[in-house]
Amino acid sequence: CGVFGIYGDPNAARLTYYGLHALQHRGQEAAGICVKRHHLHIHKGEGLVTEVFSADKIDELAGDAAIGHVRYSTAGGGGILNVQPFLFKTLDGDMGICHNGNLVNANVLKRKLEDQGSIFNSQSDTEVLGHLIKRNYGHFIDRLCASLRELDGAFAFLVLLESGLYAARDKYGLRPLSIGQLPSGAYVLASETCAFDIIGAKFVRDVLPGEVIRIRKGEIKSCFYTRSPKDVSDHLCAMEYIYFSRPDSNLEGINVHAARKRAGKVLFEESPAEADVVIGVPDSSLSAATGYAEASGIPYEMGLIKNKYVGRTFIQPTQELRELGVRMKLSAVHSIVQGKRVVMVDDSIVRGTTSKRIVALLKEAGATEVHVRIASPAIKFPCFYGVDTSTLEELISHRMDVDALCDYIQADSLAFISVEGLSKSVRGENGDALCCSCFTGDYVTKLYDSFDKANKD
Ligand code: 5GP
Ligand code: SF4
Ligand code: MG
Repeated sequence: CGVFGIYGDPNAARLTYYGLHALQHRGQEAAGICVKRHHLHIHKGEGLVTEVFSADKIDELAGDAAIGHVRYSTAGGGGILNVQPFLFKTLDGDMGICHNGNLVNANVLKRKLEDQGSIFNSQSDTEVLGHLIKRNYGHFIDRLCASLRELDGAFAFLVLLESGLYAARDKYGLRPLSIGQLPSGAYVLASETCAFDIIGAKFVRDVLPGEVIRIRKGEIKSCFYTRSPKDVSDHLCAMEYIYFSRPDSNLEGINVHAARKRAGKVLFEESPAEADVVIGVPDSSLSAATGYAEASGIPYEMGLIKNKYVGRTFIQPTQELRELGVRMKLSAVHSIVQGKRVVMVDDSIVRGTTSKRIVALLKEAGATEVHVRIASPAIKFPCFYGVDTSTLEELISHRMDVDALCDYIQADSLAFISVEGLSKSVRGENGDALCCSCFTGDYVTKLYDSFDKANKD
C-alpha cells in the first residue's frame, strides 16, 4: 500500500490526490482521502485513484489537512469495508487512520478487544489501532505511543485529528515513510519520495524506525514510542528496492534505480552468462538489466514490450487468469532476439508464471538460448509484513531448488542473486541488514499465529 499526508495547506485534498497518483504502483485496488475542514470528511472507493476521484469530488473535499491511501490487499482481503482511510467519530473529535504494512499480532489483539466489547467494522488489521487509542489514557501522543507498543509487525501509520497530523513507523523500520516540505512551509508525508517531486515538495528526512511525528502548523515534534533505543532496528524491506518502489524514489537516502543497477552488476559477477543480448522485463527489472549489461559488456536491448493497458498479473485470482495476463501483457521483439543467446533479467520469481511464459515467448521469437537471471534471492517463505501475498505452497522456490525450477521454466540456465549480494548492492559492504525474511525464513518479528493462518487459508 501507499500512504500520503499533508497538514496546513488550503489545497490539501488536491495535493493528496497528486501524491496518491504518484504512489499508484503501490496499490491499485482502492483509494481514499480523508480531509480536515473543522471535522473530518472522507471519500473512498474501489479502483484506481483516477477512477475513485473526479475533479468535482476533489473540489468537494475542501480542507487544510488530509491523509490518503492506495490499497493493495494483503490482510483482510478486498471489499469496500476494508478500504482506507478509516474514519472514527468519537466524543473527543474525529480521527482518520491509514496504514501501510501488516500487523502480525492483529488477531491476538482483536480477540482481546472483542472480549472487552469492541466491535470491528472491517477485517482489516488497521482498525485495531483506533480501538487501542480509545482504550488508553492521557494526552493523545501518550495514548498513541502506548497503543503502538502493543502492536507488532510492519507499519507506517498516518493518523489525522482535528488538531494535528501524526505519523509512526514500526520499530524494525520495515516499511518506508518520508517527510517533505512544500515551498509554503506545509509538511507532507509519503511512503515514497516520488510523491514529493510531483507536488514540488522537497525531501526533509525519513521518519526513523520507532519514531512518532506530530505535525501542526509549520512545526514538527518527534518522539519514540519504544521504551528503549535497544528495541529499535533498521530492517527496511529488501523487496522495496527490488520490486515495490518506483525507480525515482530514494529510500533511506538510497536511490532505487541505482540500487537495482548495482544488483544487476553483482548478479553478473556472481552468475555470468555467455550471451549476445541482455534484456529486462518491463518495468521493474529494467534497471537491474542495464546494470547486468553494463558490467558484462553484453549489449542491452529492448527485447520485450509491455502493453501498458493490462493490469497487474500478479494479483489475478487463478493461475489460468495469471497466465493469460502475462500473455496479454508482454510481447517479444523478434528482430532483436531471433538467432541470439539472450540473458533475461527479472526482479523476482514468485509462482514462476512470468518467467516460464517469457522463456517460451523468447524461444518462439527465435532466441537460441535463454539464460534467466533474477535480481532478488529465491523467495522461499511468505511475507507477513505487507508485500507478497503468496502462501508457502504457492511459492515455487519453496517447492523447487534452482535446478528443478530451471527445468520447469525451460531456461538454459537460471541464477538468483545471493542474499549477501543483494544487501551489498543496496547498502554497501558494511551496511545494516535489510529485511530478508522471505528469502531466509529468518523472520524479523515474532509471528504469533500468522504462519499457521496464512497456510490454512
Ligand atoms: P510470478 O509470475 O513468478 O508469480 O511473479 C513474479 C513477477 O511478478 C515478477 O515479474 C514481478 O515483477 C511481478 N510482481 C507483481 N507483484 C509482485 C509482488 O507483490 N511481489 C513480487 N515479488 N513480485 C511481483
Ligand atoms: Fe519485504 Fe520480504 Fe521482508 Fe516482506 S519478508 S518485508 S517482502 S523483504
Ligand atoms: Mg515484473
